[in-house]
Amino acid sequence: MKSHFRPAIDAIAGYTPGEQPKIDNLIKLNTNENPYPPSPAVAEALNKLDVGRLRRYPDPTADALRDAIAKHWGVRRENVICGNGSDDLLTMIFRALTSPGRPVAVLDPSYSLYPVLAAMQEAPVIRIPLSRGSFELETDLAEAARGANLAMLTRPNAPTGNSIPREKIGKFCRDFDGVAVIDEAYADFADDDCIEFATKFDNVLVMRTFSKSYSLAGVRLGYAVGAPALIDGLMKLKDSYNLDMLTQTVGLAAFEDQATLKKHVAMIRATRARLGAELAKLKFKVIPSQTNFLFVSPPDGDAARVFAELRKDAVIVRYFPGEVTGSYLRITVGTEEETDRLLDCLRRICR
Ligand code: PMP
Repeated sequence: MKSHFRPAIDAIAGYTPGEQPKIDNLIKLNTNENPYPPSPAVAEALNKLDVGRLRRYPDPTADALRDAIAKHWGVRRENVICGNGSDDLLTMIFRALTSPGRPVAVLDPSYSLYPVLAAMQEAPVIRIPLSRGSFELETDLAEAARGANLAMLTRPNAPTGNSIPREKIGKFCRDFDGVAVIDEAYADFADDDCIEFATKFDNVLVMRTFSKSYSLAGVRLGYAVGAPALIDGLMKLKDSYNLDMLTQTVGLAAFEDQATLKKHVAMIRATRARLGAELAKLKFKVIPSQTNFLFVSPPDGDAARVFAELRKDAVIVRYFPGEVTGSYLRITVGTEEETDRLLDCLRRICR
């Protein structure tokens, strides 16, 4: 049958999100969700919400939320844009900045949505390979990204969990003549971040999400900080009401409770350290993580087998087949109890 789609769309396999299985007693460690509940302020805000207000459209530019975010980072409202998840921001960024003549540079491996968004734009993808084995940046970033109009710098990186040194990112931003987007989806779990580059350079956007550290993946909220000219450009092509009223209300409540964020981040970092140490004892190779997940390779490298065996025990982790990532598993850091059960299963599977 004749396709009515553009050939570029027919050619895209599409992004595969991590599964959300309905299994009893499931231990779900596959999509980097937070194992702890959102701030109690979220429930309070929902309880106080006047449902009658829902007949109105929400604030199209989410100004209360943008003001709170701007104040926190010492910038102005004009420096902030919110998205329906940071995926929504990525869609805007790729639509605005990539085309057949405007390539995008991405780390390899990195977030697998980027090449899908590039394909929709029919934009060439320049892959910057991370070293095999340690997933560090050994090539010269400026050299590797030459000719790109957009560079996606995922820091900490996913699925590898490690971070490119901050100085390398800063130097790159200073010299690059395209737009550098620093995707900091996991930065709350890291030792440092690059948020200051968003104000220091006028070609840099730093992106954050509420899906991981704020325990709000179900609400869909992310934001980007950058120079007003970049934010203005993105505003032009966002959906008019990209953030619904519930998201704006809940997001603001969660953001204003930084104490809960810090408490849960500290718990996850402590569990991350314990899980990493226990996996090392089991002779797993563990990539040093700055995130709420670990990228690990079992002793015999047969990650596909371990993935399948864990699934039989209702423990779901993420497996990315392929030459570069196929001998690794990406395991979200869960609660202490979930970690105990995961480790029990692995001790049996990898005996
Ligand atoms: N960036 C990276 C690196 C991610 O891993 C994710 C989560 N899959 C996102 C962005 C998107 O996050 P969200 O749309 O849930 O805000």
